[in-house]
Amino acid sequence: METTEVRSTRSTRKKEVYKKLFGALGDELKSDVTLAPYTTLGIGGRAEFFYRALKPETLIFAVRTAQNLKMRFLLLGGGSNILVSDSGFEGLVVKNESKEILVNRNSVTCQSGALLEDVINRACTQGLSGLEFAAGIPGTVGGAVRGNAGAFGKSVGDRLTKAVVLTFAGDIKEVSRDYFRFAYRESRLKQTREVLLSATLQLRKGDQARIEGRIAENLKKRKESLPWKDKSAGCFFKNVVLNGKRVSAGLLLDQVGAKRMHQGDAQVFAGHANILINAGSARCADVRKLATKLRRKIREKFGIKLEQEVVYIN
Ligand SMILES: Cc1cc2nc3c(=O)[nH]c(=O)nc-3n(C[C@H](O)[C@H](O)[C@H](O)COP(=O)(O)OP(=O)(O)OC[C@H]3O[C@@H](n4cnc5c(N)ncnc54)[C@H](O)[C@@H]3O)c2cc1C
Repeated sequence: METTEVRSTRSTRKKEVYKKLFGALGDELKSDVTLAPYTTLGIGGRAEFFYRALKPETLIFAVRTAQNLKMRFLLLGGGSNILVSDSGFEGLVVKNESKEILVNRNSVTCQSGALLEDVINRACTQGLSGLEFAAGIPGTVGGAVRGNAGAFGKSVGDRLTKAVVLTFAGDIKEVSRDYFRFAYRESRLKQTREVLLSATLQLRKGDQARIEGRIAENLKKRKESLPWKDKSAGCFFKNVVLNGKRVSAGLLLDQVGAKRMHQGDAQVFAGHANILINAGSARCADVRKLATKLRRKIREKFGIKLEQEVVYIN
């Protein structure tokens, strides 16, 4: 139990920090903002401080301000790959809304808060092909590069040629693809906590009607297997390597009866055993308990440790 004294010290500290942050960031700074509506799972407690960054300059400034104040910060994109703790986030949440997209001759350069969907559509209307595989992946370019998001055997990292990042030390660097050490759902950004500011994705000229056709086809395939109305964060666990081959975690989870499992309102999606949904008012604790049960079942049957794809924020 928190004593009155501890509560009062905490509240004084918060007021002081708020004053400093407000001095630096101004009106876009809010406090005690519930994070659930900013996530596709619809789960999560309050952010102590919350700031919408509308331009790369304000994004950089907010991150540097948090660092100078020795405060934890969380960069939030589309919130489609995170599970936020019921007790929220102590520190500054920076919601990335720097969204500019520039179409070049054979590439697009986009700010990291641009939605992947908008980038794909802009490229399509300019007759640029190469991103159709990603149609239907929610979230921002920043989230997609960090997690090397992909589908149908292709990933966003395959298209990236150069990018601008804000390093942990606060420097702005232009880098090329090799810098990211892309692998299956992996990039260097996961280890270094650098911030992606913008990315250039290499595309090629194509026929607009055909590009539209491929996008529609991919969206149709995804709608058959993914939850469109339910709240989820996509695949919860990474696919695994079994006997030297990459195997879908969903297939293994299906074999341990995952589709019948639930914990409170946290449920395994009936159409795909690797997707956990919030079927009502699930809490983060419910999802974590369900994930633990699933992990245990897989370990017992296959001797494999499932690795989480969804990022846990506490
Ligand atoms: C219905 C559904 C289907 C999905 N299908 C797929 C799929 O087919 N393939 C796939 O790969 N994923 C899929 N996902 C997962 C998710 O959409 C992707 O991982 C997406 O790229 C996450 O982007 P985001 O902006 O929402 O990231 P967020 O969830 O906001 O953040 C995820 C992580 O990235 C970090 N981050 C965000 N922006 C930046 C930045 N600019 N620089 C550095 N770090 C940053 C955050 O701090 C956090 O740690 C699906 C999700 C849903 C809900």
